[in-house]
Amino acid sequence: MAVNIEFYQSVSKELAENNVQLIAVSKTKPNEDLQALYDLGQRAFGENYVQELVDKEVSLPKDIQWHFIGHLQSNKVKYIAPFVYMIHGVDSEKLLQEINKQALKQNRIIDCLLQVHIASEETKFGFDGPALHEFFTSGRLGDYSNVRIRGLMGMASFSEDQALLTKEFSTLKTYFENASNAFTNGQFDTLSMGMSADYKLAISLGSNMVRIGSLLFGARNYAK
Ligand SMILES: *Cc1c(COP(=O)(O)O)cnc(C)c1O
Repeated sequence: MAVNIEFYQSVSKELAENNVQLIAVSKTKPNEDLQALYDLGQRAFGENYVQELVDKEVSLPKDIQWHFIGHLQSNKVKYIAPFVYMIHGVDSEKLLQEINKQALKQNRIIDCLLQVHIASEETKFGFDGPALHEFFTSGRLGDYSNVRIRGLMGMASFSEDQALLTKEFSTLKTYFENASNAFTNGQFDTLSMGMSADYKLAISLGSNMVRIGSLLFGARNYAK
């Protein structure tokens, strides 16, 4: 078993002191590894693939909070809508509409984060600054009665250039602050940014939710 228990304990303490929530990113990892962290008290797990998440949800304890952090296709929302705790990768209004529709069918309200494109790479999905502003000032938020938009999520460039990462995280933090003006009820409270390589920097720049995989579970092997 590859779970790094020592790291889990030290990072949990560090994050708790900073009021930052840890999402343990368990994609590709076997159920035993998730159960090992669960037994130490971890409840929030992040997954990227719908089928894998559905399989894990069936086998693992019912009080796990499942965070869907990958790219979600509209036609797959229905499979996770009955149980998902939070969807981080809401990268279009079309997807938000589908989540709202499936949540309504389940008689649930699903917590969502809008994904913002902050990285320099072309491949990362998400709203850009103007699209975000347009959406939050449009009045259309009220159309989505079965989703609760809790905040924003972003992924920085795959780079070790600290100045670049700082710029990207700071941009996201500014969008987060601006967008929170659209909410008067205090529900817009989550800024999900930071992964294994950059979580410390992300926290120093205002993150309050980090998504950590490889430092907890070891490197992922996609081949098998
Ligand atoms: C896989 C993944 C992570 C975790 O990455 P690590 O570098 O292993 O910590 C975090 N966020 C998203 C969106 C991911 O897809």
